[in-house]
Amino acid sequence: MLADRMTMLSLSATAKSRTAATSALSDGQSIINLSIGEVWCDPPQVLRAAATTAIDRGINRYTDTVGLDALRRTVAKTLSKRTGHIWDRDEIAVTAGGKQALFNAAMAILNPGDEVIIPVPYWTTFPAQVLFAGARPVFVDTRATGFVPRLDDLHKAATRATKAIIVNTPNNPTGTVYDRETLRGIAEFAIDRDLWVIFDECYGAFTTEPHRHHPIVSVVPEVRTRTVLVNTFSKQYAITGWRLGYLAAPPPVVAAVTALQSHTTSNPNVIAQHAVLALLKSGDEEFLDGLRTRLGRARARGLEILARLDAVPTPTSQGGFYLYLDLAELLAGRDPGDPIGNADDVAALLLREAGVAGVPGSAFGDPMGLRLSYGVPMEPLQTGLERVVATLNALSRTPRTMPHHEAV
Ligand code: PLP
Repeated sequence: MLADRMTMLSLSATAKSRTAATSALSDGQSIINLSIGEVWCDPPQVLRAAATTAIDRGINRYTDTVGLDALRRTVAKTLSKRTGHIWDRDEIAVTAGGKQALFNAAMAILNPGDEVIIPVPYWTTFPAQVLFAGARPVFVDTRATGFVPRLDDLHKAATRATKAIIVNTPNNPTGTVYDRETLRGIAEFAIDRDLWVIFDECYGAFTTEPHRHHPIVSVVPEVRTRTVLVNTFSKQYAITGWRLGYLAAPPPVVAAVTALQSHTTSNPNVIAQHAVLALLKSGDEEFLDGLRTRLGRARARGLEILARLDAVPTPTSQGGFYLYLDLAELLAGRDPGDPIGNADDVAALLLREAGVAGVPGSAFGDPMGLRLSYGVPMEPLQTGLERVVATLNALSRTPRTMPHHEAV
């Protein structure tokens, strides 16, 4: 009954984890939810005031498809400052979040049959959107190389059909931040192979010293003509529900995206646009500084607690707000039939026995990972992580259970 293309898609795995946590909550269980991809705090005061002012002024109409002219210019100006290269309004499209920017990019540059290189673990939506565009994701594993792709592996994965590579730094879910050398290598690889780079820097506002976020176009300016840079206001201003992001790309891509968006969603939310415009113009960094400080404290405390894990290495956590646990050693030697054999089983165990929700690595193409967010208040974070440590340490000490069929 449904269109064939829907067989390629299922509900986003992170959305599934969110639903599992919510349904456990509504069953009356007390759940600490570390599965969510957003920070817990209220948005900046300047932003909220600007949104109510926009409503009070009766602002209610459509805007230009890819955003208010003034907002596109201001985003271009902010990006120019951040990247050290001039950007123009015609290179900016404002979208309903980073997710729409990525979707638009996939639709604008991919043909059926094209291949797209995606480092694994990946954010769950990347391969889904590639498939939806009729293209084929080609995965490059980064587990053995500290969750950063090796150039050799990228070259091995490239074929004549390769059209693009998706680069996400700071990375969701692993929390790695690609250094300049890695970005230079990827940019040169893309130039050499004549590829597009879809550069997702949605967590770029959050890095921990000595790690720094570098937009790939700042590292290798020549890659700019083949890069679609994707960003969002969702995470850094705590407005995931307001739906506002953008892409920056060569004008023909922005023109194609404008045509596409004019037939899909039209302009992003007008109130959110006015509010973000006011915030960007104010140059107010106080909110972001405060948020970074609080997240820094949460990260440090989280790592301190997780250091007590017996069979799980302390996560890298260089950027973003995730702690990504590598469960390979903990689960090593367990038979596929063991009730706790992979990250899905561990996530289910944590939800059931510790009342903690995380996202299993299977959502990110990695059956041995577990993502826990520290974008939550300190108290539940500590309690949640202490319960995770207790449950996983108990698991590492229990003998492996025999597979169901042999256990009779
Ligand atoms: N890119 C990455 C890596 C993400 O993790 C997310 C959201 O979780 C997004 C893009 C899209 O965010 P939004 O659509 O809320 O702006």
